[in-house]
Amino acid sequence: MAKVVILGVFVADTAYRAQRAPRMGETILGESFALGPGGKGSNQAVAAAKAGAETHFITRLGRDTFAEMALKTWAEAGVTPAVTQHDEGYTGAAYIFVEAGTGNNAIIVCPGVAGEISRADMDARAELIGSASVFVTQLEQPMDAAHRALEIARDGGAVTILNPAPAADLPAGMLALCDYVTPNESEAEALTGLPVTTLEEAVLAAERLIAMGAGAAVITLGEKGALYHDGKTGTHVPAFDAGPVCETTGAGDAFNGGFAAALARGFAPVDAVRYGCATAGISVTRSGTAPSMPSADEIDALLT
Ligand code: ATP
Repeated sequence: MAKVVILGVFVADTAYRAQRAPRMGETILGESFALGPGGKGSNQAVAAAKAGAETHFITRLGRDTFAEMALKTWAEAGVTPAVTQHDEGYTGAAYIFVEAGTGNNAIIVCPGVAGEISRADMDARAELIGSASVFVTQLEQPMDAAHRALEIARDGGAVTILNPAPAADLPAGMLALCDYVTPNESEAEALTGLPVTTLEEAVLAAERLIAMGAGAAVITLGEKGALYHDGKTGTHVPAFDAGPVCETTGAGDAFNGGFAAALARGFAPVDAVRYGCATAGISVTRSGTAPSMPSADEIDALLT
């Protein structure tokens, strides 16, 4: 079976809803609290596995309660962990303050031991990465490790996907290792220096990403769907309306996981982008990130 291998970070999302943020030195009572699995790479792995792909996830965990949450999340979704657990240090965690009146949030992410994922870790996983049909990474772990993993994946003949999130300057030559680069609008702006507010601007930014070395570009456009560019033609794939929108956090992760799973199933690129949009379209109708990822049956039903 075609294999999806994903490198990334798990963090436990701890979300606090309150009328306002506390001032320094102050304690206030909040309205509600939620704890759930997060981290872009982990969410993408859950999405790919639930979409039916054999999915392996490479990361580092501590040996603590949040590590147990990660392992349970992956077991339930069918993700095979390729994980080292460390006695020193801790599993990633994110503090999410949600302002009750507006829904706006402010976040602190501590990646813990996943912040130390290294080139040597990737060399130690070379056999797994080299056996991938599709390899995916984002930029929550150190850049060096992502770069090395893309080299190994490319050497092994995998289809390589870089989701350049959070936005960061890429080292020379990194985009040339990517068959697909999948930024959202603001990440595309950061990478290219071009504005991305319309479809026409997205086409120009995609062309710039391809000129910078990427094989093809997919710019996700929120409720407008996605723009796929193969170097010759830009194709707009509209978003799916799968019901009332509940929470869009993790929509990009749902897209990337679904897109990778579809490529592993042998879909043509534009069809894989449609599949990613359908995956994300269902996920935004549900609350949570990893728990909102749909099954292959649900995605197929939306596509038919
Ligand atoms: P996030 O950071 O919130 O995870 P993102 O900014 O990385 O998301 P977006 O471009 O917002 O990613 O969304 C990814 C995909 O999710 C889009 O290409 C689209 O298919 C789908 N999507 C996002 N918002 C909606 C929506 N309101 N309705 C339907 N589909 C949506």
